[in-house]
Amino acid sequence: ALDIGHDLGRVVLNARSFEREHRLIEELRALDVYKGRLIATVSHELKNPLAAIVGHLEILQDEETEPLVSASVAAIDRGARRLARVADDLLLLARVGDPAHPVVPRPVDLADVVDDVLGLQGHVLTRKGIEVVVEKPDRAVVAMADLEEIERVVTNLVSNAGKYTPSGGRVTVCLAVEDAEAVLECTDTGLGISPEDQEQLFQEFFRSTNPLAQAQPGTGLGLSIVHRIVARHGGRTEVESRLGEGSTFRVRLPVAVTG
Ligand code: ADP
Repeated sequence: ALDIGHDLGRVVLNARSFEREHRLIEELRALDVYKGRLIATVSHELKNPLAAIVGHLEILQDEETEPLVSASVAAIDRGARRLARVADDLLLLARVGDPAHPVVPRPVDLADVVDDVLGLQGHVLTRKGIEVVVEKPDRAVVAMADLEEIERVVTNLVSNAGKYTPSGGRVTVCLAVEDAEAVLECTDTGLGISPEDQEQLFQEFFRSTNPLAQAQPGTGLGLSIVHRIVARHGGRTEVESRLGEGSTFRVRLPVAVTG
């Protein structure tokens, strides 16, 4: 038999718990936005005094000083530059996580982006004795994206591949179109990443405990920036890697409809 009273009661209960969950999600979202703005403000405030420190250090470095003093100045300079890099990365991370500034996607030819990034960075890899290879199809691979943000994605992936690949290795950047997605792959023959580390790669400040990887300078923010940029484009970031053999980072972006 139909128990309308009972069913109606359940509907009301469900609606209430739905409302509660909805409110909770809204609160979490607002907190996340607040966190992002706080990070942006703090990193911005750090940048001015850091610029002053680096500027004055340059003056000190031009002076003739005792070796002990110049060694200290050099150490302070390294620290200040590292802090400046962290502040820059945090600022960018906050910007690409801010829902008030969504991306405005335009058609971007990924081969041009790869050319530009390798034009700027390729020599760092080749100087280290790493072979750089680009593989692209005859047809243009055009993604719907923000040009600057995608340049940053490719820059971070290529720079990581270079950092974590010993000399004599190879870095291959490969473009393709698959199932209405523009696909960019960056494969290296470097250190590789353990399955445990792979699970945490995209978290802010994560750096592997692998001593070979830790020997390289870094902030642990590069891949979280990549992940966030790709996600806000409606894309996906994937990683395949074997410790001691190498890694592939794959980014899938919405393809631009041409014609
Ligand atoms: P960073 O390179 O500044 O430490 P990232 O967020 O770019 O920060 O990378 C996080 C960690 O992931 C790195 O510290 C490194 O251990 C690992 N990693 C990233 N890319 C590679 C790669 N191509 N090969 C091996 N390990 C990598």
